Amino acid sequence: MKVDSDKCVGCGACVSIAPENFKFNDEGKSVVINDSITDEAKEAKEMCPVDAITIETKTVEFIQERCIGCGACVSIAPENFKFNDEGRAEMIDSSISDEVYDASSACPVDAININE
Ligand code: SF4
Ligand code: SF4
Repeated sequence: MKVDSDKCVGCGACVSIAPENFKFNDEGKSVVINDSITDEAKEAKEMCPVDAITIETKTVEFIQERCIGCGACVSIAPENFKFNDEGRAEMIDSSISDEVYDASSACPVDAININE
């Protein structure tokens, strides 16, 4: 789930409808604090006057035990993966993007799977 802060006009609808999912940041824009796709979050998305809320129903399954540390995902999708101290990839953001699809395709051990 994401809020496009460039679009958000700070009307507060999402924050009052789904306070478990959204809150205001210091700039008066809504941010996601909980990624659970609740009924309230869906309603907030419908009520947003500027269509700033995206609810992603696809999920990324990351099986770290399979990782052999080749680094493909880290270089293709650095916003989503980084190396941990053991030289294995770690998922730092599960948002879906084209880069995550590419990382999933590039991973030689099928550690990154996108559930559609
Ligand atoms: S409903 Fe939309 S415009 Fe209003 S605060 Fe939430 S994200 Fe921003
Ligand atoms: S692409 Fe796969 S094997 Fe390579 S670092 Fe990422 S998760 Fe590990």
